[in-house]
Amino acid sequence: MFLSNEQRLFQDIVRQFAKNELAHDAVQRANNDHIDETTMNKIVDMGLMGIMIPESDGGQGGTLVDAILAIMAVALSCPRSADFVQAGNFGAIRTFAAFASQTQKERWLHGLLKGRLLMSVGMSEPEAGSAVTDLQTSLTPDGEGFRLNGTKVFGTHSATADIILAYARFGPGVHGIGSVIVEKNMDGFSTGQSVRYMNGEKWAQLYFDNVYIPKENILLGPGGFKKQISGFNVERLGNAARAVAVGRHAFNVARTHAKMRHQFGRPLCEFQGIQWKFADMSVKLDAAELMLINAAISAGSDLPGAYDTAATKLLCNEAGYFAANEALQVMGALGFGEDNIVQYCMRRTRGWMIAGGTLEILRNRIAEHVFDQRFSQRP
Ligand SMILES: Cc1cc2nc3c(=O)[nH]c(=O)nc-3n(C[C@H](O)[C@H](O)[C@H](O)COP(=O)(O)OP(=O)(O)OC[C@H]3O[C@@H](n4cnc5c(N)ncnc54)[C@H](O)[C@@H]3O)c2cc1C
Repeated sequence: MFLSNEQRLFQDIVRQFAKNELAHDAVQRANNDHIDETTMNKIVDMGLMGIMIPESDGGQGGTLVDAILAIMAVALSCPRSADFVQAGNFGAIRTFAAFASQTQKERWLHGLLKGRLLMSVGMSEPEAGSAVTDLQTSLTPDGEGFRLNGTKVFGTHSATADIILAYARFGPGVHGIGSVIVEKNMDGFSTGQSVRYMNGEKWAQLYFDNVYIPKENILLGPGGFKKQISGFNVERLGNAARAVAVGRHAFNVARTHAKMRHQFGRPLCEFQGIQWKFADMSVKLDAAELMLINAAISAGSDLPGAYDTAATKLLCNEAGYFAANEALQVMGALGFGEDNIVQYCMRRTRGWMIAGGTLEILRNRIAEHVFDQRFSQRP
């Protein structure tokens, strides 16, 4: 791969850290619903939070490539631990750090980078999923600030987050959309029952009932939607990186199994039907990783472009799920058990085919690039 010596060295260091510190309880962590503070602290101490955030803001001053190498290296040893790297680099934190005022950074960024605060992004609504610009959550002026009304659904960490980066409408149309920071203890903000996704994550419905939002909590005003979405492209690449690395994790487990497990007097890996599965998994994972690193390198110090993001996420999501699902098949009943990491990898990679832009919506975006034409999805 086209990595510099420095990048390879960084990758080796993080891989070694993850192997020594995280790999041994990967299964236990995968089955743990709660934020594991010990793991979080290890990741913070290793300098794996805020990799792309400038040092002047408390980050590591690295690049998107560095962050991608880090999250993949962690996921390769412990898929669940990569969630912390996601939250500290690719999630709402990245958009927040890019667009927050100095005061907002001083107030929240330090806690986010230390793993003491958790932020969830509230985009999806009951009537605005793929058609996210149909969102109805509204902001109406009230004195120096605004009143927030609406409902959000499906958000990662929404059941437990301390703050919500909520997309909301200052006025009609796409240009009317901006974003605000909602704090857990604000009057009028409440959460519903939490719901468990099949990947183990929990989300809760978020209700904003006339919540007063002071002007200090506005992240992006009207017209901020495009900026917000370009920041979200980083989150999508984090999601793509985890998908491909978690798929590779399952592949590695199944590969060892295929060499050890004997049936019909031979190791599984001697059956051509099994070999071809590994050939397909290997090629798809390699291709997806190349695309991912290429997208990150192309972005340079900018945010990744829409086509690169869509194509990379599509390829990585499909490759990751394909590998994890095939790995489970190779493992037989063992892979289907809750004490086995491979079924967890399959469930996790499945979710990323929906989260952060479904495969269908990504294909729509790619088609627009192919034809150099915008195709409205509306009747
Ligand atoms: C694990 C997970 C984590 C998530 N985290 C967050 C989060 O942190 N914050 C947040 O705001 N949201 C989050 N979401 C929600 C996610 O963004 C939405 O689920 C996603 O945008 C799809 O919306 P929907 O589920 O309402 O499906 P719908 O939009 O109702 O779509 C249903 C199906 O129709 C297809 N479809 C819709 N429109 C078209 C079209 N024009 N062409 C072709 N097919 C189409 C979709 O691809 C999908 O297969 C998460 C979801 C999951 C599963």
